[in-house]
Amino acid sequence: MRGFCVIISLFLSIAFSQVDTLPLFVPQKPEKPIKFCKAQKEWISVVEKFEDWQEVRGMSNLVVKMPYATFDNFTGHNLYCDIQRAFLHKDAMEKLRWAAALLKKREAGYKFILFDAARSNHAQEVLRSAVRGTPWQHFVSSPSKGSIHAYGMAVDIGLLDEKGTLVDMGLPYDSFAFYAGKSGEKQALEQGLLTATQIKNRELLRSVMAQSGWISLSSEWWHFNAAPGDTIRTKYVQPLPISQ
Ligand SMILES: [Zn+2]
Repeated sequence: MRGFCVIISLFLSIAFSQVDTLPLFVPQKPEKPIKFCKAQKEWISVVEKFEDWQEVRGMSNLVVKMPYATFDNFTGHNLYCDIQRAFLHKDAMEKLRWAAALLKKREAGYKFILFDAARSNHAQEVLRSAVRGTPWQHFVSSPSKGSIHAYGMAVDIGLLDEKGTLVDMGLPYDSFAFYAGKSGEKQALEQGLLTATQIKNRELLRSVMAQSGWISLSSEWWHFNAAPGDTIRTKYVQPLPISQ
């Protein structure tokens, strides 16, 4: 009987550890951080000419500041070669403009901070490699499945307050914690991991985005799709097969 109990409690502790207390992902910094300049420049030269895509600019309350264009992201690599240029499909761009206009009405003085928009498959592969084979790999789509970012139809976005300070969402961009998105918020509030204000801040972002036609991802407060994933995968194309 005792053995049975040990097995049961072992099972429960594993089940619980996977649901509730999956330790926070601590990325292994690479020994040799790489700056992916050739791949990123090639990709930009293609998407610049892709007629349905546009560069994200011209919105006075939106700042492009992409951690993947620096070494300061969970991979430890500089995926975008210091190039802070973001691109989107024109359908997504239109919705982003709506969102920017709506934010101006809702919270004058606030700005969007764009962490990422369209993403090449080479970058997706670097992101996936950093988590492949770990319990956190489900957080990052594999390039073969195709991230919605690859279609130029997703954004990773946050808010800056009137002082230019990041609005507190309780967890930073790209956190792998269970309460990084809406699905874990109730539990995190009960456990004191998130405050009501942090959840309210997330709700402001979600509400402005939802009213502009964006669909939020339940596991990440910062990620929004410009249409349902299935629609995007069937009706939109990725601009290129990556040559490298
Ligand atoms: Zn995303």
